[in-house]
Amino acid sequence: MDFAYTQEDEAFRAELRAWLDENLADFREQGDFGGHHGTMRTMAKRQAWQRRLNEGGWAAINWPKEWGGREATIMQNVIYSEEMAKAKAPGIYNANGVWQIGPMIIKWGTDEQKDLWLRGIINADVHWCQGFTEPEAGSDLANLRTMALRDGDEYVLNGQKIWISTAHIAKWGLFLVRTDPDAIAEGRKHEGITALIVDMEAPGIDVRPIPDITRDEMFCEVFFTDARVPVKYRLGEEGQGWLVAMGTLGHERVGTAGLSISMRIDLDNMIEATRKHNPEALDDPDLRDRIARIYTQLEFTRLLNARALSKVLKGEKTWPEVQLAKLQWSYLSQTLAELAVDLLGPAGLLGRGGPDAVDGGTWARNYVFQRFTSIGAGATEVQKNIIADRAIQLPRK
Ligand SMILES: Cc1cc2nc3c(=O)[nH]c(=O)nc-3n(C[C@H](O)[C@H](O)[C@H](O)COP(=O)(O)OP(=O)(O)OC[C@H]3O[C@@H](n4cnc5c(N)ncnc54)[C@H](O)[C@@H]3O)c2cc1C
Repeated sequence: MDFAYTQEDEAFRAELRAWLDENLADFREQGDFGGHHGTMRTMAKRQAWQRRLNEGGWAAINWPKEWGGREATIMQNVIYSEEMAKAKAPGIYNANGVWQIGPMIIKWGTDEQKDLWLRGIINADVHWCQGFTEPEAGSDLANLRTMALRDGDEYVLNGQKIWISTAHIAKWGLFLVRTDPDAIAEGRKHEGITALIVDMEAPGIDVRPIPDITRDEMFCEVFFTDARVPVKYRLGEEGQGWLVAMGTLGHERVGTAGLSISMRIDLDNMIEATRKHNPEALDDPDLRDRIARIYTQLEFTRLLNARALSKVLKGEKTWPEVQLAKLQWSYLSQTLAELAVDLLGPAGLLGRGGPDAVDGGTWARNYVFQRFTSIGAGATEVQKNIIADRAIQLPRK
C-alpha cells in the first residue's frame, strides 16, 4: 500500500479546506433556511448548502468540468469525503442525484437529457429520488414487476414501489421498471428491465409517505396507475436498465470513504457530552471497555477502507473488502448508537424538543435511526451470504 499523497492531492486538500474555512462558519450563522418540521427543515438546509457548494465548484467533484464538476480522481474523492467529515459539513440535497443518478445520465443520457436535467441536479434546483425497491423486490431486486408497456411515444406504468426515500418532495425520479412482461416467467429476470426518468408530478402517480422509526416521514410508497412517461425520458436502451443502474455502484462506494472518520468524531463527541451530563459513567469499567473496543474497531475499519482504496488505485477488484466494510459500517453505527445512550444515562434518551435533551436529542434519535444500516445499501444477511459463498467458499447444502 502506498498512501503518499501527490502534490496535486495536497493542493486539492488545501483548496477544499480553505473554502470550507471561509464558507462553513458563515453558512452556519444563517440559521434559518425555511421548512418547518423534521424532513422539510433538514432538506431546506441541505438545499442551501448544496447551492453554496455549487457556487464554489464543490457540489459534484466527480462530474465532468463541462457540467460543473472537477473530474476528481479516486484519491481526491476520498480526500473530499474525509474533509467533509472532519469539518462536520451538512449533507447535500441531491445525494442520490449527485452520486448516482447524475453519473448515470452523464454516461447513458442523450445530449438533450443532459441539458434538461444535470444543471438542476447539481444546483439543487429540484429534488430527485431513486425508485428501485418493490414489495417483492428488495434484496432480490431483479424480481421487480412494475410494468411499463409502450404505447406510441410513451410508456404506460402500472405497479408499486416502496421505501423510496424523499419521493414526496421529489420533482424527478429514476425508476427501474419491467418492459418485457415475459422475462421473469422465462427465467430471464435480469433482462427486460428499463431505466425511466419519471416526472413525479405527472397524473397517475400516487406518493404516500411512510412514517419511519423516528416518526419522520422520510420514505414513501409510490403507486403507478396508467401513469404515462415519454419514451424520450428513457435512460439507455429498452432492456438495459440493469446495466444502467449497476454501473454507478462504484460512486456509492467512494461516497462512504469518510464514514470511519465521521464515526470517530461521533465517538469523541459522545465522550465529551458524557463528561458534561453523566461524568461518573466514564469510571465504569464495562463502559470503558466498550469505548476501547469501538475505538479499535474504528481503526480497523479505516484500514479496511484503505485496503479497498489501494486495490481501486491499482485497478483491482475491491472484493471482499467492500462487503466487509458494509458489515462493519452497519455493526459500528449501531454499536456506537447504543453506547451513546448507555454513556449518557437517562438524559441520553430524551428526544428532541425537550429542554433537557442532550445535543438536541441527537443521541436518542440515533439510537433508533441507525437500525436502518442493517438493511440499507445491502442487507446484512445477504452480505454475509455473499462473503460465505465467494470469499470463504463455504460448501452449499
Ligand atoms: C432508510 C432506507 C431508505 C431506503 N431508500 C430507498 C430508496 O431511496 N430507493 C429504493 O429503491 N429503495 C430504498 N430502500 C429500500 C432498500 O433498498 C431495501 O429495503 C433493501 O434492498 C432490502 O429489501 P427489502 O426491504 O425488501 O428486504 P428483504 O430483501 O425482503 O429482506 C428482509 C430480510 O430478509 C433477509 N434476506 C433477504 N434475502 C435473503 C437471503 N437470500 N438469505 C438470507 N436472508 C435474506 C434480509 O437480510 C433482511 O433481513 C431504503 C431502505 C431503507 C431502510
